[in-house]
Amino acid sequence: MPAKLIKGKEVAAQIRQEIKQQVEKLKAEKGVTPGLVTILVGEDPASQSYVRAKQKTSHELGFYSVQDNQSADIPEEDLLKLVDKYNNDPQIHGILVQLPLPRHINETKVLYAIDPDKDVDGFHPVNVGRMVIGEPAYLPCTPSGIQQLLIRSGTNIEGAETVIVGRSNIVGKPIANILLQKAAGANATVTICHTRTRDIAEHTRRADILIVAAGKPKAVTADMVKPGAVVIDVGVNEIGRTAEGKRKLVGDVDFDAVQQVASAITPVPGGVGPMTITMLMLNTLQAAKRAAK
Ligand code: NAP
Repeated sequence: MPAKLIKGKEVAAQIRQEIKQQVEKLKAEKGVTPGLVTILVGEDPASQSYVRAKQKTSHELGFYSVQDNQSADIPEEDLLKLVDKYNNDPQIHGILVQLPLPRHINETKVLYAIDPDKDVDGFHPVNVGRMVIGEPAYLPCTPSGIQQLLIRSGTNIEGAETVIVGRSNIVGKPIANILLQKAAGANATVTICHTRTRDIAEHTRRADILIVAAGKPKAVTADMVKPGAVVIDVGVNEIGRTAEGKRKLVGDVDFDAVQQVASAITPVPGGVGPMTITMLMLNTLQAAKRAAK
């Protein structure tokens, strides 16, 4: 029987509904509206479309939403001042600087300038440190979305052999840390693979939960998957255009073949993707709740 689909679109819609209700409650009881600013530097079309999607969702959820567009030649110093302005703005609870930034700007410097309490992307080292030691933190959005997909699909995470393919700072390393925590929705036994791993298939074949974030189509094939495994495909790879000019996307997993082996699998698109923005909104709501206390 083909694997059950873990539909991120549906899970994301459910979480957004929960956020909307909590936003209304926060407004009514505390008079606080979650505020999110998205800072976009330059006119990169992909970044513009990501920022538009974030703005659209925050409007739909009833947030106070600010879109701050800056020209590509903004001096680094001015961008740092802008971040500081929002650090000190009580109406803003979450600051998102859309990456990548132009070459003349030191990305790390800008991300480190964000007040960790407003760092709703969860990239500031203070939040990364809090996440690693298991303190309350803003978790990075894609990995926390993956955890929610596992929890809400009823996957048993506790004690599960969990293999992650990819060790990036935005997906692989944080999801490993999140699932490793001594906490509900975690307690997994975690292995991370990367391009220097000697025999990747030897690891992936042991996995009850297999998370693939390699950025390579068919990095994982059916013979690399344990029968009955839960497979989370994070990859987004463009493999051409449709006749109508739309992007054709595939994940990192050989979907059709792996679907015959796994017990559950996320599709691409419509799997992990829709969760990322939703978790950004959840982090912003949390930031507003903290500020309201
Ligand atoms: P990345 O920074 O390029 O990292 C890829 C990681 O995978 C690296 O650690 C690399 O190993 C490893 N790797 C690459 N090919 C491999 C292979 N054949 N076998 C084993 N390991 C391999 O990518 P990323 O930012 O983590 O993103 C990964 C994918 O997820 C991309 O397709 C990206 O578009 C997608 N993504 C999706 C979302 C979403 O919201 N859905 C969010 C973020 C990313 P080395 O370290 O040894 O080089």
